[in-house]
Amino acid sequence: MLYLVPTPIGNLEDITLRALRILKEVDKIWAEDTRVSRKLLSHFQIETPLAAFHTFNEHHITASLVAQLKAGATFALISDAGTPGISDPGFLLVRECVKEGIRVECLPGPTAFVPALAASGLPSDKFHFEGFLPHKKGRQTRLQYLATLPHTFILYESPNRLVKCLEQLAEHCTPERPACVARELTKIHEEIRTDTLAGLIAFYKAKNVKGEIVVMVGGA
Ligand code: SAM
Repeated sequence: MLYLVPTPIGNLEDITLRALRILKEVDKIWAEDTRVSRKLLSHFQIETPLAAFHTFNEHHITASLVAQLKAGATFALISDAGTPGISDPGFLLVRECVKEGIRVECLPGPTAFVPALAASGLPSDKFHFEGFLPHKKGRQTRLQYLATLPHTFILYESPNRLVKCLEQLAEHCTPERPACVARELTKIHEEIRTDTLAGLIAFYKAKNVKGEIVVMVGGA
């Protein structure tokens, strides 16, 4: 059995009771960055063996994990923050487990885009999750596509690229399009700012932007 266990995106109080129990009970926890996860696990006094499962070794070790799961092991997969498989490693392993008939369970829990969207004031009945845009090749094509969507779309973006990203969005979607920047969710400096793209550009251009960011843009 494989458990996908969401971990806090900032506030440690957001771990669920079930996540804590599962992390204590499994044979091994596979983590994106063992140094990051060790801090979380020691905070909650969890001593389960920990090993690395990340973008650089997932192709290489997935078959071995699947073999161990088939032989009866119970594993948890966690990422640095949020839900594994959401702009984080997990998909490859889950796909193989599903193919091999291994039970996969994902616990409900923290993920950045859901609270961002729910608090944005942008329509949330239908939405498109884009995750990170490619930095170079394919970026323009994605922006052109996103600009045509009739519903809210959601991006993950780094703070040093925020203004450039908003400017490119304004170019493709028009500066008047309603949008939202959700920054540092669940942390002390949480900030959720909804405005037009032009308004957000003006605000963030004057700032040294820091922290983790979700960008959302209303539909065409
Ligand atoms: N698996 C995670 C999830 O379920 O949301 C996403 C991992 S992805 C590598 C990291 C990105 O998620 C960040 O660059 C940022 O865009 C977004 N993110 C993570 N934590 C956040 C937070 N506390 N506030 C705003 N955005 C956050």
